[in-house]
Amino acid sequence: MPLNLRRITDSLVFRLIVFGVLLMSLGTVGRITFVSSTVRDGLQSVVSTQLLSVARYVATDIQAKVSERRELLKVLADELSLDPAARAGQLSAALARHPPLVPLFPQGMALVSAAGRGVWANGTPGTSGAGHDFSQADWFKAVRDGSPFFVGAPTVESSSGVAQVPMAVPVLGPDGGVLAILAGMTAIDATGFLNAIQSQGIGHTGGFLLVSGRDGVFVAASKPELRLQPTPMQGVNVLHDRAMAGWRGTGQTVNALGQEELVAVAGVAEADWFVVARMPTAEVFETVSVLRAMIVRNAVALMVVLAVALTLTLGWLFRPMKEAARRMREMGDGSAPLTPLPVVRHDEVGEMVEGFNHLLLRLRESENRLSHMAHHDLLTGLPNRRALLDRARQGMALARRQGSGLALLFLDIDGFKPINDLWGHDVGDLLLQNLARRLTQTVREVDAVARLGGDEFVVLLTDIPDRDNVAAVASKLIEAVAQPCEVRGHTLMVGASVGIALYPDDAADVDELIAKADQAMYSAKRSGRHTHCFATAD
Ligand code: GH3
Ligand code: MG
Repeated sequence: MPLNLRRITDSLVFRLIVFGVLLMSLGTVGRITFVSSTVRDGLQSVVSTQLLSVARYVATDIQAKVSERRELLKVLADELSLDPAARAGQLSAALARHPPLVPLFPQGMALVSAAGRGVWANGTPGTSGAGHDFSQADWFKAVRDGSPFFVGAPTVESSSGVAQVPMAVPVLGPDGGVLAILAGMTAIDATGFLNAIQSQGIGHTGGFLLVSGRDGVFVAASKPELRLQPTPMQGVNVLHDRAMAGWRGTGQTVNALGQEELVAVAGVAEADWFVVARMPTAEVFETVSVLRAMIVRNAVALMVVLAVALTLTLGWLFRPMKEAARRMREMGDGSAPLTPLPVVRHDEVGEMVEGFNHLLLRLRESENRLSHMAHHDLLTGLPNRRALLDRARQGMALARRQGSGLALLFLDIDGFKPINDLWGHDVGDLLLQNLARRLTQTVREVDAVARLGGDEFVVLLTDIPDRDNVAAVASKLIEAVAQPCEVRGHTLMVGASVGIALYPDDAADVDELIAKADQAMYSAKRSGRHTHCFATAD
């Protein structure tokens, strides 16, 4: 992965944004799932109930139309007194007495003998009065065999091409036997018959079907092209199969065209028909799709806002941290001094910066300690050889500028080793500390006292008027050392031999000055100790 991309994907800001967006996406998916299923269930329940109401209403309406025809057919049948050969004249006369019957059967009426021969009245032009063979008609057979009322299979009248439904009742003799069969033909398109089905759909894409279960055909449908078409084969549409078997109610199915739809089925009992009110789920659940799209649009917009807001907010929150990291790096590189960082806000970033500042403080303390240790003697706390060299060099430079002098007094304790040997190293240490204090107290504050190691001390005197003055200081130092010292109940007595070298008289640099003073100290030792000796110029 390229470095820059890596830096982005590793960034906390980026990860928090991704986390936020992921959370929102999960929320959106959850919301869509929950809202979709809830709204879907609600819609399905409401629409199914409505479809069932509508189907029942339409079925009741058709039932009423059929009953109306049955009743009138019965009235007419009762009036017909027949001889075995039915005559058109009788039927026409009866019809004339019942004008309401005529428009109910616009395709004509037939009076058929029990043998199957019959006459038409008020029928299709050209058929009136002629003798016809009705013996193969389903309604003829059914009524002849005892059915009190029969709605036959819808057919297309051969000469006019009009789709029609026959209805038939028996004309009973005094003994109750079937004397003849009275049938009436209603065009499926006849006004006031199946209008409820044919004239309207449901919603934009839904509609009605009127199915004759017994005949396996669509009697009527909101889609005219379906009329008199055979119903789907068994197995194509599950709910259709169930409806054919007598099921009534609501459900969801897939129709013969593969469309998913909600259906409600209500029966028209007298005709052995059932009404199907159907509506494709695509239309029913259109609201769900709209809602889903709205939620997605809304979520995307929110995510963009969230991402921008998080980028800005997190950028603002983390800016002090990035700044602190940059400063820390600079301090680490040495390009910036080790100074505490400003605490911009008292948040987690502020806490981290405070922690860093604390660490820095400890670092500086330990640095100071190390620096002190590097320049001081551990036992006495006096400046060590290294510090002395620095001080001497500074003193020389000043003396050169001011045209003054510098004196270096090299002091070795006389008879120190026996103290160690007699009373132990600890006592020797305490004595050394005591002597260091005395030496420091004996000279001025501007003068430096250093310990070179062992029992060797150096006193550096600046701005000296003359040799006598230096000799006086040396005497004072020797006297100070010679004073008895109480250590752990022992009264200890030591002396000091001092060698003195002067700058610029005796040496040109520090090393030479120390060497000269050291030699002078040995001279003092040789000349009996407890005294001082000046270096001799070469
Ligand atoms: P001289 O009179 O000739 O100067 O002899 P001295 O007995 O003083 O002994 P010298 O100066 O030759 O040696 C110094 C001794 O100091 C040697 C060593 O055992 C002891 N010494 C060195 N450093 C320390 C220290 O830090 N503590 C103690 N207690 N003794 C030390
Ligand atoms: Mg000594």
